Amino acid sequence: TADISTISEKTLSSILEKNRTYSTQGKVADYIPELGKMDAKAIAFSVVDQNGKVFNTGDVHKKFTMQSISKIIALMVAVRERGEADVFAKMGYFGSEKPFNHFSNLETTGKPLNPMMNAGAIYTTSLISGAGEQAFIKVLDMVRYITKNQNIDYSKSVYESEKSTGHRNRGMFYLMKNNGLISGNEDQLDNYFKQCSIELTAEDLAKIGYFFAHQCVRFDGDSKYKSAEVAKLIESQMLTAGMYEFSGEYSRMVGLPSKSGVGGGIAVSVPGKMGIGVFSPALDQHGNSLAGYHMILDLVKQYNLSIF
Ligand code: GLN
Repeated sequence: TADISTISEKTLSSILEKNRTYSTQGKVADYIPELGKMDAKAIAFSVVDQNGKVFNTGDVHKKFTMQSISKIIALMVAVRERGEADVFAKMGYFGSEKPFNHFSNLETTGKPLNPMMNAGAIYTTSLISGAGEQAFIKVLDMVRYITKNQNIDYSKSVYESEKSTGHRNRGMFYLMKNNGLISGNEDQLDNYFKQCSIELTAEDLAKIGYFFAHQCVRFDGDSKYKSAEVAKLIESQMLTAGMYEFSGEYSRMVGLPSKSGVGGGIAVSVPGKMGIGVFSPALDQHGNSLAGYHMILDLVKQYNLSIF
């Protein structure tokens, strides 16, 4: 295998070209109507190396919504504010063997399985303090900080689309309210829909991957939020539940903490080393980017990046 210091834009573009065809085999998410409008052929691949240097290839300027990748940022904000024990007092650390929108275990133990599936993520966002959209603003500000990109904002049209069709998520929200986990009003659910609608690029995702790979130190070395413990928590959640019910097989094949979103992005942390960001909106049956997965897999094989 090759040394990671030899990674270049050329490496990335040859992996991208090899896997471009997968974008015709997956399917763009359309259960959120606005997402159905995405260009299935768009594809991008980014790496932030050990020294914080950025390598980009493909549709590098193409923006897409974070969707479930926002869940790791919300978890970080909630844990920094309330402490891990409090955040997990009524939520599990279970790995995922259920689809991301499954109701487990709200009807049995009453507790969401983990903060990466929708139920636990909606709950986690509801734990962040502040009236109205304050909790969302905290998540947005953290994304802007980690990526050092103040231009990042959310897509109003995707947000409206999710809000008007997200009845399953609304059902989970009210079931958790019934169970006594959630005390606020629907503003808290709106904050979840808004965080899912944050728009960014593959490069921004690679910077997020880098951040958690480096104990919450930013790619430019800024260590304002440095915490080995927070990074360990986030990476362990990414590893065990970040790719939903595919997480187990994914950890065998790729072996890296990763978080996907139905917008087609995946953020990957190579602990102590680098961050990877991929984008291709055609998804597999689990809701993970198909070409994105194959690009990550090839990079991992070429440079022997699995943590195992
Ligand atoms: N906003 C999406 C939803 O709640 C996020 C799901 C995902 O990216 N897997 O359904």
